[in-house]
Amino acid sequence: MLITPVVLPEIIKTIRQTIADNAEEVTALDQAIGDGDHVVNLQRGFRALMEQVETIEKEVDWAVAFQKIGMTLMSTVGGASGSLYGTLFISMSKSASGQIVSLATFAQVFMQGIEAMKQRGKSDVGEKTMLDVLIPVAVQLQTSVNNQEPISDLLPALEHVALAGMESTKYMLATKGRASFLGDRSRNHIDAGAKTAQLMISSVISVIKLRLVASN
Ligand code: ADP
Ligand code: MG
Repeated sequence: MLITPVVLPEIIKTIRQTIADNAEEVTALDQAIGDGDHVVNLQRGFRALMEQVETIEKEVDWAVAFQKIGMTLMSTVGGASGSLYGTLFISMSKSASGQIVSLATFAQVFMQGIEAMKQRGKSDVGEKTMLDVLIPVAVQLQTSVNNQEPISDLLPALEHVALAGMESTKYMLATKGRASFLGDRSRNHIDAGAKTAQLMISSVISVIKLRLVASN
């Protein structure tokens, strides 16, 4: 299955709306163990992306589209999440360069982006961050593609690991980012960055599902 960057504006709009719909809940999470600015940071980034949807819409090359998104997020979001999401897309741009992006190549491109995030954040699964959602999603995507699962199984599987990953952060001890300053008091709260990562993954999936329905 080939997907083109035409889908990106819809994804950007959907994510922006989903974050707005969950803003209060996520801000409360970030106030509990962070500094409370995570939603505002992301909203600044998505507002900047919205200003670019028309150019992104016309883009036929995933590498160029990812580069634009990465640079925009890097320069507007700020905080730890800005540099991490910026790194994700800039790295995805590098690995998508010169490739025709099918689902199989996308799985590899995404995995490389996640590896770059891990290096940037010096973090891995189990540290109570957005990576507790994003790493399992990247691994599940790769597994589903390797097993040639139909998209109707693959999408719910991704949704499931994203939710489970987000929920898994609740009882973790934070060892990275601001929450780590709290030590044991970081437990019993879901990580705000894990929550927004899960919301973003579920937004992407909902857009793809609608596209699939529309193309049938
Ligand atoms: P900041 O913590 O700098 O204020 P944000 O509030 O925008 O930035 O983002 C906080 C989120 O970033 C956290 O909830 C966590 O998920 C994620 N995060 C912070 N540090 C790291 C890290 N080193 N590696 C991975 N994710 C991180
Ligand atoms: Mg913050």
